[in-house]
Amino acid sequence: MVKSILCGLTADEILEYISPSGYTLSHSKKVTNCIYKKHINDFSIMTGIPGLLKEYLTDNSSTGIIRPVASQVSADKTIKYLFRTETGKEFETVFIPDGKRKTVCVSTQSGCRMGCPFCVTSGYGFAGDLTAGEIVNQVISIADAAVVTHVVFMGMGEPMDNLDNVLKACEILTAEWGLSISPRNITVSTVGITPGIVRFLRSSSCNLTVSLHSPYSDERKRIIPVESKYPVHEIIRILKEFPLTKNRRVSIAYIMIKNMNDTDMHLDALKELLKDSDIRVNLLPYHKVAEDINDSSSPERMQYFKHNLIISGISASVRKSRGADISAACGLLATGLKIRDQFFLAREDL
Ligand code: SF4
Repeated sequence: MVKSILCGLTADEILEYISPSGYTLSHSKKVTNCIYKKHINDFSIMTGIPGLLKEYLTDNSSTGIIRPVASQVSADKTIKYLFRTETGKEFETVFIPDGKRKTVCVSTQSGCRMGCPFCVTSGYGFAGDLTAGEIVNQVISIADAAVVTHVVFMGMGEPMDNLDNVLKACEILTAEWGLSISPRNITVSTVGITPGIVRFLRSSSCNLTVSLHSPYSDERKRIIPVESKYPVHEIIRILKEFPLTKNRRVSIAYIMIKNMNDTDMHLDALKELLKDSDIRVNLLPYHKVAEDINDSSSPERMQYFKHNLIISGISASVRKSRGADISAACGLLATGLKIRDQFFLAREDL
C-alpha cells in the first residue's frame, strides 16, 4: 500500500484526509504542529493526538520528514546538506548561521532548466521539480531546524519554473498552523520569468529578488539566457508599478564580475534603471569555478558601487560570501553532487 505523505499538506488537506474517521480541524492542526513546528518523525510519540488517530496515521501515512544523506561544514560554519528522494532526485540545501539570523537556503528543483552559464547547477542538468513537501522538508529535517529564522529560495532550480509548489511551500512556512515564519523573513529569488513574477506578487506576501547582473539586455542575455524571452526592463517596470505592502521587500541581485559588469557605465545604467523606485540592490561577489577566466570585482569596487547607488537614492548593500570553500555559495550548488564521494561526510558523521 502506498502511504500518504503529510509534509507538504495544509491543515485543511490533512483534515480532508482524517475527517472521514470523525476527526476535526483541531486534530489536523495538532498533526501539522508536530510535523512542522516540532519536526517529529514518529506518529506514536506525537502529543495531544488520540491514540486511535496515531495508529491510523502510522498505518496509512508517513510524516514525509526525510533526513539529509550527507553534509559538509564550511570554515565559516555554513553547512551544506545533500538530499536524495526515494525516486532518486538529488538536491542541496545550505544552512547559514550569522549571529541571531539563521537562514536556510532551499532548492526548488533537482537541477535547473535555465542554463545560466556562470552557474554550476545549470551544468548538472535537470532531474525534476521538488514537491512542496520536499521544499519544506529542507527546513524541518536539518540538525539546526529548531533555530531557523529566515528562508531563502536561492538553491538549485528556478522557483518560477515550479511556482505551484513554491507558493504552497511559502504558505506552509508562514501559516500559523505551519512553521509560523514571518513572510518578511522569506525571500524567493528568480532569474526573471515575467508571468511567474506577476503571479507570485499577487499570491504571496513573501519578499522577491530578481537576478539582474547587467542593466544591458544584450549583455544580460549572455549571463541569463531567459532575458531573450522575458526582458528584465519589462520586469522592472512591473516591479515599480506593483503596490508593495509595508515591510515587503523587492530587490535586485547583482553579481559583480571584474571588468565585465562593474564599470562606471554599468553603474550609471543601473541607477537609471532603478530610479524612482523602492527596489533595493544586493551586490554579490562572483564565485569562480575551475578553468573560469572571470574574477570577482574587488571589495573596494563593490563598496564604490554601493556608495554611488546610495547617494543616488537607491538602497544598496554588499553581501558577504558564505560557504564558498564547500561550494555552498551563490551559483555553486551541484558541485557537491558531482564530487560528493570525495567531499561529503557519511550520514552517520552528521
Ligand atoms: S542561476 Fe538559478 S536559474 Fe540560473 S541555472 Fe543556476 S539555479 Fe538555474
